[in-house]
Amino acid sequence: AKSPLENVISLAKRRGFVFQAGEIYGGSRSAWDYGPLGVELKENIKAEWWKTFVRSREDMVGLDSSIILPRQVWQASGHVDTFTDPLVECQQCHKRHRQDHLVEAFEAKKGRAPEGMQDIVCPDCGTKGMFTEPQMFSGLMKTFLGPVDNEEGLHYMRPETAQGIFVNFLNVLGASRKKPPFGIGQIGKAFRNEITPGNFIFRTREFEQMEIEYFVPPADAQRHFDTWVEACWNWFIDLGIDPENLRRFDVPAEERAHYSDGTIDLEYKFGFGGGDGWGELMGVANRTDYDLSSHTTASGTKLQYFDQANGEHYTPYVIEPSFGLTRSMMAFLVDAYAEEEAPNAKGGTDVRTVLRLDPRLAPVKAAVLPLSKKEELQPATQALAAELRREWNIETDDSGAIGRRYRRQDEIGTPFCITVDFDTLEDQAVTVRERDTMAQERVALSQVKAYLAERLTK
Ligand code: ATP
Repeated sequence: AKSPLENVISLAKRRGFVFQAGEIYGGSRSAWDYGPLGVELKENIKAEWWKTFVRSREDMVGLDSSIILPRQVWQASGHVDTFTDPLVECQQCHKRHRQDHLVEAFEAKKGRAPEGMQDIVCPDCGTKGMFTEPQMFSGLMKTFLGPVDNEEGLHYMRPETAQGIFVNFLNVLGASRKKPPFGIGQIGKAFRNEITPGNFIFRTREFEQMEIEYFVPPADAQRHFDTWVEACWNWFIDLGIDPENLRRFDVPAEERAHYSDGTIDLEYKFGFGGGDGWGELMGVANRTDYDLSSHTTASGTKLQYFDQANGEHYTPYVIEPSFGLTRSMMAFLVDAYAEEEAPNAKGGTDVRTVLRLDPRLAPVKAAVLPLSKKEELQPATQALAAELRREWNIETDDSGAIGRRYRRQDEIGTPFCITVDFDTLEDQAVTVRERDTMAQERVALSQVKAYLAERLTK
């Protein structure tokens, strides 16, 4: 039998959420493409995030900065020197691994730290303790701009969206007339030359982040840090993540990023390797004045705030909630996936697969289904679908038994199925079936839009 995670991955491929990039050429485990349902789900997650953390808040504004920034940005930020991971190679099979990941996996399995690398078995070939000494490997993805592939043209793809925010600090401050505490939110691609991408879309070399840099007076940093950890936790719970599957991890000093004075990760129970398989979902870091100060020194431009109240310039501290968009999507899929006994048409039961996605995230909001393929049902079906499409992503489907069509919609998380039957032509009403309870209700055609509007938003 497949593990729950494997079931989610196979559903995601089969139904068009996520495809392997370049599959016709054998594919790659480091990149994935988002299919018709995946792109809708991803857009819905982004929209919810933007609404919660940017648009609905007085103290937040948005930004969309470049992926390729001047080289000096990454030198000043410390990424060129310190954005590295320890790489070891198995001398038996020559596969490369991140040393810290091997150690973490050992600890998760055995419940104790290894004595040394001699304790650890290669996950690829099973040979024990045959690893080379660790070498530091840069996670920055390089590219060359302009006509020559040399040192002069060397640039880096951003490994985090954050730096685009820091270097625009004064621009945004001036244009938006905000004052600390205030924040800048950004959603976009990030690139990391990961040594071992894998676990589906959990770790890829190209991914998307949703980040906030929140600028605060230094003395208030801890208070804002705590508030943000809670706000991030609540965002996931409000969108349906089971609190049992979420936990906080206070990252010890030696494991934190070079800029961080304190990090709390939210971890999700992804179920890697058929077990609990917890993994980092997002992190909140106290970046102090590290970034603004480094850029001030390197650029000669003072990235500070002038506090009129006491006539002082100061460098704000930064609290950074950093979400992986694609990792969040994976968590929402895993959490929503359920298989359950459900009554079938023959009076017995069978197993139905249902994605219990929050209606705000569901890629298809409703399916309009004519009871049969009969010509007479078409006009009412098409008219209703067209009306609803002005607001939402709607599917129609007329092939196969109605029960099977319901199950197809359950499997992709569609909150409502709307059936147009022969009575519709008489009573101008349709049957609306709700995904989770499977309860059915007769609703007047003229009321369907209002009925859905009330139930799809929150
Ligand atoms: P990890 O320890 O898993 O490599 P990290 O601690 O380096 O992650 P951060 O630098 O804190 O990650 O990045 C913030 C968020 O961006 C992560 O919590 C995660 O959601 C997302 N993220 C980071 N790297 C990747 C990746 N390679 N693929 C997908 N998402 C990623």
